Amino acid sequence: MLGAGRVGGSAKLNSTAMKPVSKSDVWKAIWLAENKPMDKVVDFLRSLLPQYSPSSSKGRIKVAVVVGHNSKATGAYAPHPVGKSEFEFNSLVAKEMVALASYDDEIQVKVFYRKPISSYSLQIDEVYGQG
Ligand SMILES: [Zn+2]
Repeated sequence: MLGAGRVGGSAKLNSTAMKPVSKSDVWKAIWLAENKPMDKVVDFLRSLLPQYSPSSSKGRIKVAVVVGHNSKATGAYAPHPVGKSEFEFNSLVAKEMVALASYDDEIQVKVFYRKPISSYSLQIDEVYGQG
């Protein structure tokens, strides 16, 4: 559904640095955002990222978020109380990640959307090509 990884520093993705974000991580982040001060949310999101050196600087930690599904194939629909398709929900989570990252100068979040083209693998190739 959503993935986060460190993409800065070299042109190629470093697979050993990639750490998938689990569904429970996403739910925990949402719960924290709704119930705790923003710095608690930022601390939790930081804990999901690879360790970095103390000499890090502005925008050093780059997070690429690829939103699951697309505007035409929106995925499963969750009825009340969610009332959203997966695409709508994922888009909101991505938007929230950008908003939360704005509290931390070191974290830069960029959101990517899959285009509604023929096959899943072409969508993935296309969206990864945007980075
Ligand atoms: Zn899905």
